[in-house]
Amino acid sequence: MHYIPLFCSFLFLLLQVSPSFALPQQSLVPGGIAVIELDRIDKTPSFKFQGKPVLISQSADRYIAVVGLPLSLKPGEYFIQGHWGKEKSLQKKFFLVKDKQYTTQHIEIKDKRKVNPYAEDMDRILEEKKRKQKARKAYNKEPVDLDFEQPSPGILTGSYGRRRVFNGQPRKPHSGMDIATAEGTPVKAPMDGTVIELGDFFFSGKLVYIHHGQGLITLFAHLSKINVALGDSISKGQIIGEVGATGRVTGPHLHWSLGLNQTWVDPALFLPALE
Ligand SMILES: [Zn+2]
Repeated sequence: MHYIPLFCSFLFLLLQVSPSFALPQQSLVPGGIAVIELDRIDKTPSFKFQGKPVLISQSADRYIAVVGLPLSLKPGEYFIQGHWGKEKSLQKKFFLVKDKQYTTQHIEIKDKRKVNPYAEDMDRILEEKKRKQKARKAYNKEPVDLDFEQPSPGILTGSYGRRRVFNGQPRKPHSGMDIATAEGTPVKAPMDGTVIELGDFFFSGKLVYIHHGQGLITLFAHLSKINVALGDSISKGQIIGEVGATGRVTGPHLHWSLGLNQTWVDPALFLPALE
C-alpha cells in the first residue's frame, strides 16, 4: 500500500504553481486537470499517469506536466511517475483529487433510433467506436502550445460531466462542452494541429479530431459541414467546418471535447476567458 502522511501531501500541493505563461487552469477533481511543475530543467522529463504518457509543456525556465483526470476517478491521492533524460531512477509527483458532483440532465431526442439503435446499426456503431478509441490514443513528442481559443462564438453551456438521461434512459456522462450557436457558424481550430480522424458518425454526426501534439486532442461533433481532410495540418484559427445538428442532438450546437493522456476533460479549463 502506498501511504503518504497528510503533511507531505500538503508539501506536494505547494509544489504546484500559478504559472505566468499560458497554461490551463488546474482543477483537481474528476474531469479536471492537474498542473504540476517539475523541479528539474537540465534534462527532458518523461512522465506517465496510470500508464499513459502525460503532456509536458516547456517554457524557457521550466517544465510543467498537464495531467487529464478521468471523470471516473475516485477522490484521493494520485501521482505521475517518470524520469529525466535517459536516467533510470523513477520519480513520483503527488497530487490530491477532490470529489465533484455533476448534475443530471434529462434530454428528449425525437429520433428514437439514436437512443435505441436498430440491430443493423450496431456494426457501424462498433466500427466508429474503434476509430474513436484509436484517435484518442494519438501521441507524439512535439512541443505543444496551450494558448487555446474558443472554437466558435456562442454560449458556453458548462455542461461537461453532466450525467445524462436520454428519453428516460441513462447514458454515459457528457464528455465535452456544448456551445450553443446557429447552424452554419464557422468552427475554428483552437490551436495548431493535424486532422487524425473525421467522418459522419452515428451518434456524433459529422466530426473532426485534431491532434495538437503529446496526446492533446480536440473533437468537434454534430457539424453540418467539414472543411478539412484526413492528415491536413491545421493552423490556429483555421475554419475546419460549420456548426450543425447531425447525429444525436436536440438542435444545432457545437460539441467540443478535449482529451489529454487519453482522458476527456473539461475544455473550459483551457479557455482564458472562463472562470
Ligand atoms: Zn455535447
